[in-house]
Amino acid sequence: MNIPIKSRSRIELERTRPTARTILRDVEGYARLSQLSGNAKTGPVNVTMTTHETCDKGCPWYGAPEGHEKYNRLVKRLCYFLQGNSWNQNGRYLRQQAQGFDRIRAAWCEAALIRVARVVHAGLAVGLRVHEGGDAYGYAARIIAAAVLAYVLRAWRELGLPERQLHQWLGMRHGRQLAWTYTHHWRRCDPANWQAEYHGVPVSPISVLASCETVEHVYEAHDRGWATALVVDRHNGPTDYLGRGFRGIACPAQTSDVQCRDCGLCMQSKRNRDLRLVVMFEVHGSPRAMTEKLITLTKKDGTQL
Ligand code: SF4
Repeated sequence: MNIPIKSRSRIELERTRPTARTILRDVEGYARLSQLSGNAKTGPVNVTMTTHETCDKGCPWYGAPEGHEKYNRLVKRLCYFLQGNSWNQNGRYLRQQAQGFDRIRAAWCEAALIRVARVVHAGLAVGLRVHEGGDAYGYAARIIAAAVLAYVLRAWRELGLPERQLHQWLGMRHGRQLAWTYTHHWRRCDPANWQAEYHGVPVSPISVLASCETVEHVYEAHDRGWATALVVDRHNGPTDYLGRGFRGIACPAQTSDVQCRDCGLCMQSKRNRDLRLVVMFEVHGSPRAMTEKLITLTKKDGTQL
């Protein structure tokens, strides 16, 4: 809300929108939509994913640091997307198909799927987890934000909800939003990148958390205006003090039976940022000894971790 979008951004968006035929041709290789996903962690929400090529190459799980290529397979196994069912069912195929990769085309394809996703189920608005795999920044983020705005407006109108609900979903007041995602591109852009225009006013239809690997990165991302999520070796309890007024909260899906649909902590970026709340995730999946070895290695190496 604080950083104005250039008024011509909407016109630019429209001008570069590919034709429906181009999107239909590209979408198979670039994006997927899982409606009312059966994902055990999120619960039944809509989930989109796009190709791994859109991810930040600086993400510590994208590949091993230079000189340590022999760890490449292990590093990639730590990526949440690459190790899960989503990768087996969709990611592998997306990567194979995305020949001549173009991240803006990928964003248009993901946006097209968001625009056709079902928004109401059993009388309730369906949450939207934006790119469970993949990432976006700059113009691509703006394309996706515009589609999410349309998604939110459709759900709000279909359910005939009061205006204050819409304001909450658009990040204009504290509260849980309908759509959420994480980004490793937090140094490349700022939260205003994820805004869309609603009646000429910049709004934030999606709760975006900066994915961080160290507490120092949390401080830096927060200074840049982001709400944050932090990967930790292990949880020390449900909450942890992280210094400088930051309080880490262990993801309840990792410590109990709660699902994202019921938790909603990641869907409140505005509140998390203002209250300095950091969502903490224990390193996903792979054998702990190997994980810790890798973390020590990359920290010593001075790379981003
Ligand atoms: S903190 Fe809550 S919303 Fe975020 S990933 Fe964990 S369960 Fe889902």
